[in-house]
Amino acid sequence: MVSYKELGLVNTREMFAKAINGGYAIPAFNFNNMEQLQAIIKASAETKSPVILQVSKGARNYANQTLLRYMAQGAVEYAKELGWEHPQICLHLDHGDTFEVCKSCVDFGFSSVMIDGSSLPYEDNIALTKKVVEYAHQYDVTVEAELGVLAGVEDDVQAEESHYTKPEEVIDFATRTGCDSLAISIGTSHGAYKFKPEQCTRDPQTGKLVPPPLAFDVLDAIMEKLPGFPIVLHGSSSVPQEYVDIINTHGGKMPDAVGIPEEQLRKAAKSAVCKINIDSDSRLAFTAAVRKVFVDKPGEFDPRKYCGPARDEMTKLYKHKIIEVLGSAGKAE
Ligand SMILES: [Zn+2]
Repeated sequence: MVSYKELGLVNTREMFAKAINGGYAIPAFNFNNMEQLQAIIKASAETKSPVILQVSKGARNYANQTLLRYMAQGAVEYAKELGWEHPQICLHLDHGDTFEVCKSCVDFGFSSVMIDGSSLPYEDNIALTKKVVEYAHQYDVTVEAELGVLAGVEDDVQAEESHYTKPEEVIDFATRTGCDSLAISIGTSHGAYKFKPEQCTRDPQTGKLVPPPLAFDVLDAIMEKLPGFPIVLHGSSSVPQEYVDIINTHGGKMPDAVGIPEEQLRKAAKSAVCKINIDSDSRLAFTAAVRKVFVDKPGEFDPRKYCGPARDEMTKLYKHKIIEVLGSAGKAE
């Protein structure tokens, strides 16, 4: 048993309370490798933003859970080296699907876990979430649950169709499970192809796809039922066109990739939405930077010479999200 407190990590409780009162959201960035983690920590330290490091099932399979946990521990020390006196870093399990996986993360030094029972029948979702909450709270680990189904594909999580969260269920669900935050479905979606072209309209000027707006009426109804309760948005990458263009002009093929406009995320961050998950955008930044080096310098074979620029591009992206979209800069001095 390793307590996250020994590792210098924090859970989400205080972060979320401050974010709701302050009208901003905490960035939740997924990481799978060293360069991504360095970029996240550098961006957070330079902007003094609280941050949630997310580990998905795919990341655990790819990079090994033990290694990732030690990397997160190292991240706290790295943040201090960068001059961030009191780093507020949470290590969070993204989309835990069983009690056993959540328990192993709690036992292993994670400060927060998500139990995603959203694909289960309502009562089964409650029972599973409650079981995880009862275990995690013994160790002061916070728990995110999910109600409603997001469309899209991300690692092992995928669904054909989305089902908006039903506002009439949220009080019962939050009360009976005791969860600390709730991921909801209001039209965000996993991956870089969030919407099919037929769900979008096309901007007549640029020919680019314009996605359907988020269901802010559903969010409002949920906030009315659960005033002050922390809400989470998954699948909130905006799929920056500049990266898609670099990828497509440097040997890639990503036609009609489309995300959530940052305007809408900015609006959500000002509400009870206090955690916004961004994964695909950093994948795009990484891939665009690597593809560019490969095309511009075909003789390059030192991974540091293409992972380095990828890291710089991700750092730029994370800082942009923190400062311009989530509003969390300066909230963890
Ligand atoms: Zn997700």
